[in-house]
Amino acid sequence: MSETTIAVALEGQLRLDDQPAFHEAAALARQHGERLIVLVCRREGQRLRGPHQQRLEREAMASLQANLAAVAIPLLQFPQSTTAEALETIRGLVVPAVVLQGQESRLFADWPIPAETFPRVFAEFRRGLQQAPQPPLPPADLTGLGAGLEAWPQAWLQPQQPIPAPEPSACDPRSAFPFCGDEATALARLQHYVFDSTGLRDYKASRNELVGTEFSSKFSPFLAIGSLSVRRIWQELLNYQASHGADEGSEWMKQELLWREFFIWSEQRHGAAFHAPGGIQQRPPQWDANRERFRRWKLAQSGHPLIDAQLRELRATGYLSNRGRQWVASHFINELRLPWTWGARCFEWWLIDAHPALNTGNWAYLAGVGSDPRSFGGAAPRRFDLERQVRRYDPDLTHQTRWS
Ligand SMILES: Cc1cc2nc3c(=O)[nH]c(=O)nc-3n(C[C@H](O)[C@H](O)[C@H](O)COP(=O)(O)OP(=O)(O)OC[C@H]3O[C@@H](n4cnc5c(N)ncnc54)[C@H](O)[C@@H]3O)c2cc1C
Repeated sequence: MSETTIAVALEGQLRLDDQPAFHEAAALARQHGERLIVLVCRREGQRLRGPHQQRLEREAMASLQANLAAVAIPLLQFPQSTTAEALETIRGLVVPAVVLQGQESRLFADWPIPAETFPRVFAEFRRGLQQAPQPPLPPADLTGLGAGLEAWPQAWLQPQQPIPAPEPSACDPRSAFPFCGDEATALARLQHYVFDSTGLRDYKASRNELVGTEFSSKFSPFLAIGSLSVRRIWQELLNYQASHGADEGSEWMKQELLWREFFIWSEQRHGAAFHAPGGIQQRPPQWDANRERFRRWKLAQSGHPLIDAQLRELRATGYLSNRGRQWVASHFINELRLPWTWGARCFEWWLIDAHPALNTGNWAYLAGVGSDPRSFGGAAPRRFDLERQVRRYDPDLTHQTRWS
């Protein structure tokens, strides 16, 4: 077996496209005649993933493993170990000369606004951006960087568990996200939504709808498990705008991707305070920690049929429209007066696109302890008039009937 090896620790980024660590590793390996191995380990501080997101991850992992095995590069999974622990486990067989870490996909590789002056509200973030998002990298050419097949223990090139067949059947047939998590599916969805349908063009008008695959992009689950790069999405939006013009739909989509960016950098800026009950405002929370009310809520017995329908959809499929998430969170905070952190933790377990920074950022915003500009002046949290919302967004009760 080759003794000079480079390891790439993927850090939750389950794709070949736009992976700077693969490019760096390939360049080094070609320079020094080394071989690559790929590790998938538990990230420091990684939270538990719920069953819907675990399914997507399995699908993405299996297809990545097969793609790497085709060039004789082993992908080793250590779901319970950190990278350091995994390296210790394999050191009897191989000691990599270099270990490169994958990075979460972001539009900006470094602070887009200096950390010291990073704003607390989105509008200032958007106005203050000092650089354009970086373009994505193509998939790195990894041919010839695996060992000869005989060099690795055969088990390293075989999936450690049989590759699961894509599992669309695992989806509830009513799901708004009836897709597999692998990279090919993610890229096909991007192509479909941006170029092969009117999805992107109509996005601004449709994004508050509740039912179906087409009212919004459904990029979030792929982004959460790293089978799609946000820089690739941005690049395709620019390509779309080059031929169709900067229409409302594509401009609005760019704005939403900047919201994602804002919350990710905010979490990095504020650390533990970002997830604390008092949020970045460090305001003492006012709530009623009523466990019985919380227990009933988790069973979709919230006391309001609109909310119960949303909760049933969320639990059955892992996906919920943005509007549905806002209603559920607002009702939880304002009507049930339960601790928003409890709701956020449940979402993190249930959501197929669970992402701690985006989830907490949105919950804290609605709880009035996050980045809602109104709340800095002490205004009460945003409250949705649910009867009006039903009349406006589900007038024929299509969603409620579907999830009754
Ligand atoms: C209470 C609450 C909890 C949420 N938890 C999560 C979460 O854990 N993970 C997650 O990815 N999103 C979360 N969101 C944001 C948003 O609801 C989802 O990103 C969106 O509904 C996903 O569907 P889509 O990809 O079709 O979105 P689209 O409407 O097509 O948007 C495109 C992309 O923009 C980004 N985006 C859109 N809306 C937001 C937003 N409000 N905040 C930050 N980024 C946004 C996402 O990356 C999304 O994939 C939450 C929102 C609320 C109100």
